[in-house]
Amino acid sequence: MMQRTAVYPGSFDPVTRGHLDIIQRASRLFDRVIVAAAENPAKQFTFSVSERLRMLEQSVRGLPGVEVDAMGGLIVDYLKAKNAYILIRGLRAVSDLDYEFQMASINRRLYPKVETVFLMPDERYTYLSSSIVKTVARFGAQVDELVPPPACRALARRFRGGRAENSRARRKR
Ligand code: ADP
Repeated sequence: MMQRTAVYPGSFDPVTRGHLDIIQRASRLFDRVIVAAAENPAKQFTFSVSERLRMLEQSVRGLPGVEVDAMGGLIVDYLKAKNAYILIRGLRAVSDLDYEFQMASINRRLYPKVETVFLMPDERYTYLSSSIVKTVARFGAQVDELVPPPACRALARRFRGGRAENSRARRKR
């Protein structure tokens, strides 16, 4: 029997509950789901690829058929290497559509066999993005309803530094 493999690429900087919602939906549809965290030297990430992978691995533990990997270069080359042609993307709102449409078109041009499958998250996650999470975490707000516990801990470690420094500076004055 043919095994259907889907690849869900993204930055996952960090993984949010919105990403996890999409991963869960994909795992119900496909036999194998590879969550591929992008390594891109031209892009500035908050977390290194190994940190992003660790957060993802801890967050998807127990989900059937789901694995985590790092991906450099073109998505279509990664798909071909994995013998896969199903590409998962999440669609939050109309605002995602323009960019996602562009990506799906270029990927189809580069690899005609590819099928981009768009999944819609639970409406709770419609306004959730990694960047909004980082913005509020930087100011010390609670993010446990927005990201899974491993990402929550990593954000606390990353941004606690800044706040601790500020309080040390205050004490000195
Ligand atoms: P990229 O840099 O590739 O956009 P992201 O990690 O931001 O990486 O997102 C990866 C994919 O997950 C994209 O298809 C994006 O639209 C989708 N996504 C991001 N946040 C959410 C969310 N809250 N709900 C559903 N899909 C999401």
